[in-house]
Amino acid sequence: MHLTTPTSTIQILPEVIANQIAAGEVVQRPESVVKELVENSIDAGATEITVVVKNAGKSLIHIIDNGKGMNKEDLSLACRRHATSKISTIDDLYRISTLGFRGEALASICSVAQVEIRTCRESDSHGWKLTVDGTSEQKIEPFPCERGTQIFIRNIFFNIPARKKFLRSDLSEFRYISETMMKFALARPDIRFVFYDGDSKIFDVKAESMQERVLSILGSDVEKALIPIEFENTILSIKGFVGEPRLARQSRGLRQLFYLNGRHIISKTLNYAVFSVFEHLIEKNSYPLFVLFISLDPEKVDVNVHPQKHEVKFDDERSIFSAINLAVSQALAKVHLIPTIQLQEQTAQLPFVAQRPDNQFLVNKLTGEIIEPTTNHTEQFQQYTDSFASERSITNATITPRANHFLTPTSSAFDSLFQGNTTQLNATQQQPNDGFEASKKSYFQLHQKYIVVENPEGMMIVDQHAAHERILYEKALQMMNREFSQSQRLLFPEEKTVSASEASYIKELQSELEALGFEFTFLSDTTIEVTGVPADIPSGEEHSALLEIIDTYSEYEKIAPSARRENLAASFGCKTALKTGKVLSIPEMTQLVDDLFKTSMPYVCQHGRPIILDFPLKELDKRFGRT
Ligand code: ADP
Ligand code: MG
Repeated sequence: MHLTTPTSTIQILPEVIANQIAAGEVVQRPESVVKELVENSIDAGATEITVVVKNAGKSLIHIIDNGKGMNKEDLSLACRRHATSKISTIDDLYRISTLGFRGEALASICSVAQVEIRTCRESDSHGWKLTVDGTSEQKIEPFPCERGTQIFIRNIFFNIPARKKFLRSDLSEFRYISETMMKFALARPDIRFVFYDGDSKIFDVKAESMQERVLSILGSDVEKALIPIEFENTILSIKGFVGEPRLARQSRGLRQLFYLNGRHIISKTLNYAVFSVFEHLIEKNSYPLFVLFISLDPEKVDVNVHPQKHEVKFDDERSIFSAINLAVSQALAKVHLIPTIQLQEQTAQLPFVAQRPDNQFLVNKLTGEIIEPTTNHTEQFQQYTDSFASERSITNATITPRANHFLTPTSSAFDSLFQGNTTQLNATQQQPNDGFEASKKSYFQLHQKYIVVENPEGMMIVDQHAAHERILYEKALQMMNREFSQSQRLLFPEEKTVSASEASYIKELQSELEALGFEFTFLSDTTIEVTGVPADIPSGEEHSALLEIIDTYSEYEKIAPSARRENLAASFGCKTALKTGKVLSIPEMTQLVDDLFKTSMPYVCQHGRPIILDFPLKELDKRFGRT
C-alpha cells in the first residue's frame, strides 16, 4: 500500500486551468473572441470600433475602440476570472443593461491566446500596455496611446492543439466573424464600425439612422420591400423591419434577426411568431426577412442562461410571442398584398461577390455563401418544358406576393379595380386592357371552393371560405363595438348542458356574445337556455353554434391570450363562414367578392394565409409562349 498518496484526491485547479475550462464554453472559435471584445468596446461607450482579422482571426484579431479605457489597476484586474466592472450584487444580475456581466471573457481569452492590451483614459497623461500569453504572468508597463482600448489576440489556441484542430476552413471561420460584425452593425447604428480582412476593407459604416444602417448592411436592393414596424404595448416595444414576402429566401443566415435590449438573441419561438404570419405567403422551406428590436424591462428577462449569451429566458414568453405576431400581422396588413402566380425566377444575389481563383463559382466574401455558376439556359428551358409535360405547371409556380398599389384606403378596392379611375394604377397596371370592360366581368365557381373572377390584368381566384371568414371577422368586431347587431330568435329555445370550463368562457364573454346576437340565460351552473343566435349562423347549425364558437375560442386563446375580441371574432368567422362544397349563384359570388373588398384587409386572413391569388394575363401569355 502506498501511504504516500495525498489524503485527498480532490484538488483545487490552478487558475489557468480553470480559465481554460471556462474558455471551452466562452471561446469556441475566433468569432467568439470578436464577439466578446466588441461587446466590451460597446460597453465601454465607444462610438467607433475597428476590427481587423488575419487568416479568419486564427493568426490575429485586432480591435480598436475609442471607449473610456482603463487605468492601471483596472487593467491588471481585467484579465482575472470573475473580474467585471458591470455587476457587483446578485440583484444587478436581474437588471443588466450592459452586454457583458460574467467577467470571464478576457480571462478565458488570455488563457488560450497571446494577448496584448493597450489602453488609456481621457484624464490620464499616458496609457498602459498589458501582455500575457496562456500560462505566463501578465506584464504591465506604461505606454503612450490615445484614449480608448486596443486589443491584439494572436495565435488563438496556440497552447491547445486539440481545440485548434477543430477550427474550420478560413472561409467558414471568416463567415462566422463577418456575420457577427454585421449583427453588431445592425444593433448599433449609432456606432461607426470598420471591418477589415487583412488589408481589404469589408465595410465601414458611419453612424446613421436605423433604416440607413439596415440598408447599408443588407443592401439597398431591399429598400422598397421593407415594411417598417413600430409597436408598443404595456410590456414591450418592437421596432424594425420585416421584408415583403417576395424577399423570403431559403437561407435564414443574416435574414432573421432579433435583438433584445440591444443584444442579438436566438429564439425559435420568436422566429415562429414572425414565420406564422408569413407561412402561407411564401414558398415552402423559405424564410421571411426581418430585423426586429425588442425593448423590454430587463427584470422581465433572464440573460444569464447561456455561456455565450445567445439565448435568453423570458418571464412571459407567450405575451412576447403574441405581441410580435400581432405587430407583424398589422404591419403586413397595411401593405396590401396579392400573391401573384409567376414562373420561377432567378433570385437576386447578395452583395460583396468575389471570384474564386479557379473561376468555378462565386463566393460571397462576406457571408461565405457559394453562389451558383452562371445559369444554364438550356437546362432552364428543359425544366420549363418538363413542367408542362407533367402538368404540374401551377403547383410548380412560385407564389410571389406583390404590393398592391391600386388601392386608396377610403374607396372600395374592388370598385377601383373595375370602375375606378386609372390614375390610381401603377406602372405595371397601366398596360392596355385588351378591350376589357367592367360590365363584362365574369364569375365562375371552381369545385365549390374557389371563385374565379376576370379582372383587367387577367384573373384572380378567391378562396370562398377564407373570403367569407374575413368578412364575418370584421363584421363581428363591429358588432362587438356595438355599431349594429343582427340576431335571429329560435323558434324552439334550446336547453344545453355545459361543462364548467364552457360555462366560465360563456360568462366571461357574455357581453360580447350578446353583441354578436346570442341570447341566453343560465338555468343552473351547468345548464343554459339559448333563445337567439346571430343572423349569420347558417340554418341547421343554430343549436350547435354557441358551443362550437366557444370551443374554437378556447384554442385561439391559448395562442394570443390578450386578444379577446379578435379571438372571438375569428372563432365566429371560422364557425359561421361558408363551407367548401357550398354551391354559389352568380349574385352570391358577386356579393361575396364585393363585401370582401370592403374589408380593411381583403388579401390575407388573420392567420396570414392568402385569400386571393392573382393570375396576370402576362403570366398566362408567357406560359402559352405568346411573349
Ligand atoms: P465582462 O464584460 O463580463 O465584465 P470581460 O472579461 O469581458 O468581462 O471584461 C472584464 C472587464 O474589463 C470589464 O468589466 C471592463 O471593466 C474591462 N474592459 C474590457 N474591455 C474593455 C474595453 N474595451 N474598454 C474598457 N474596459 C474594458
Ligand atoms: Mg465582456
